[in-house]
Order: sequence, then C-alpha cells, then structure tokens
Amino acid sequence: MSELRKDPVIGRWVIIATDRGKRPTDFVTAAPVGEPASCPFCEGNEFMTPPEIYTVRRRDSLANAAGWTIRVVPNKFPALRIEGTVEREGLGMFDKMSGIGAHEIIIETPAHTDLFHKRSNERVVELFETYQRRMLDLKNDTRLLYTMVFKNMGERAGASLSHPHSQIIATPIVPKRVREEILGSLEYYDYKTRCVFCDVIHEEKRFGSRIVYENASFISFCPFASRFPFEIWLLPKRHMSGYPAATRQELFECASITMRRLNVALGEPQYNWMLHTEPINPIPRNPWPDLNEHYHWHFEIIPKLTRVAGFEWGTGFYINPTAPEDAAAFLREVDDQS
Ligand SMILES: [Zn+2]
Ligand SMILES: [Zn+2]
Ligand SMILES: [Zn+2]
Repeated sequence: MSELRKDPVIGRWVIIATDRGKRPTDFVTAAPVGEPASCPFCEGNEFMTPPEIYTVRRRDSLANAAGWTIRVVPNKFPALRIEGTVEREGLGMFDKMSGIGAHEIIIETPAHTDLFHKRSNERVVELFETYQRRMLDLKNDTRLLYTMVFKNMGERAGASLSHPHSQIIATPIVPKRVREEILGSLEYYDYKTRCVFCDVIHEEKRFGSRIVYENASFISFCPFASRFPFEIWLLPKRHMSGYPAATRQELFECASITMRRLNVALGEPQYNWMLHTEPINPIPRNPWPDLNEHYHWHFEIIPKLTRVAGFEWGTGFYINPTAPEDAAAFLREVDDQS
C-alpha cells in the first residue's frame, strides 16, 4: 500500500509507492522496443494486463480480447490504489495520508509502433474523448479531487514500455503545480477580473513570434518564459476551466495541431505532455469559488532535449538554451504534411 507524505517545509506531497519498486522493468536499462510478442499492451496479449475498465472496440468483439482501438486498464503497479479510505495521520510533526487514488493506463492503439503523431485526427479525437470519459467517471468517486492525464514518450521521458500509452492518476489532493497555476490565475483575476490564459492568448497573437500554429479553436505557442527548449503550450481559444467541456470539433482541432510538426522538426523526440485542468470535484471549504472564471485548461508539451540538473533542482528555476521565439520560428517552417 502506498502512502502520501507531506513535506513540512514547502507543503509538497510525495507518493511513497513501494509496490512499484518491484517492477521488473525498473532494472532493465533500455525500454523493450519492437517486441510485440511479450508486450502486455499489444493486441492479442490482453490476458497480460488487469481486466479492462473502458474500451473503444468493435461491436462483435469480446471484453479483454482482440478487436479494440483504445483500451483502458488499471496500472499493474499503481502509484495509488482505489481500495480503502482516505485516512489522515500525524506522525509527530509529519503528516501522511493513505495512498487512495486511481492509476490507469490508456493503451492508445493495438499496434506496437503506431506512434501518436502518425495517427489520423479522428483517432486522436477518440483518444482525447477517452480522457474525457475517464475523468467524468472518476469524478463519481468524490474522494478524488484531481485527475492528471499525462504521456511519457520514450525512455528518457520515463516510459518503461515503448507501446504507445498515456496515463491518468487521480489523487485525493490538488497537486502543487496545479495549485500554483490556480493561485496565480486567481491573483490575476482578482486584479483584472480576466482570465490570465485568455490574456496570454491575446498577447501571443499580437506578438506572433512565439506562435507555432493556430486554427479556429486552438493555438499552440512556445511560452514567453519557456523552461525547456521547444516547450509548447496548447490552449483552446474558448475559455473553459475544465477539459471535459471541450466539444468534439474542438478536440479535432486540438488533434490537428503541433505534434506532427514537432516530430518532423526534431526527428521523433522523446517527450512528456501533461493535461492541466480544473479539479474534478469540489475542494473542501471551496477555496477558489470563481475557479471556472479564472482557470483555463491546456496541454503542456516538453520534449526531452535537455536534462534537469543541480541548478534546476536546487533553485526551481531553469536555464533554457533556446529562445522560445527561435523554437517557434523553427517549428513554423516545418512542412507537417510530409
Ligand atoms: Zn506492444
Ligand atoms: Zn481563459
Ligand atoms: Zn499548465
């Protein structure tokens, strides 16, 4: 059973997940590439994973068998587990909490080498809608306050299996990074009564130099204070605090933007992306009553081109060797249809 422990100085929660230490893949240096026979996420190997939670599959196919296009299963080595109750405990001055939550794997495709950027927009929309469905379902468990959807692509990005997949971790707390964004957007809203993200979109359009791509519903740009080379944010132009509110058309336009371009420009880089959205359930004592006015969901994409080292760990600020204006110009020039 894992547990959450709170750092007494800065209030950051850490998941101590000892179960995961047993993962055999932790001791393998290279991610297993191109071995569909032994891959638990490949079609035909459904028996190698825990039973599925949700699937997009052919009507004539059977659960936990071939015939699917997207398959959601519990993580076999979860960071948090759904069973039990949220118990809080003090150990002297320290605070801990039972590791309640959910940890799901979204297997994005039945085929081992069918990378995200090679798929049609329709298929990416199917994946994006799967995230929405899982969030709405996890919301029914009122112990869970936040769902973090993320993707680790490549070994350097933290993926232990090369088969394309993303993950959802639902937590009984609002994570620190998200809390910082919410508090920052609240401060701006208190001062200007506008959404800071909507204002950023407006300003990025005015400057133009950091925009990677835009269409009617979405914009992608390298943020003004990018932490990493080729860091990209992807925002819906319509103000929405929660990802489940996005329409199919909006998700389609989100799908058609950026990833192909990034992959052509940098030659299939390893990357992480994260989905930042509002909490799924009301927070006790409702600390942010106007959240839906000032928060604005978005994706953040971070290609793994540099490594976070001592200075970044020590200070929390970053040295980025590539100006976001140069990265954006480079990405704009790419022919993403090639
Ligand atoms: Zn596979
Ligand atoms: Zn907004
Ligand atoms: Zn964010």
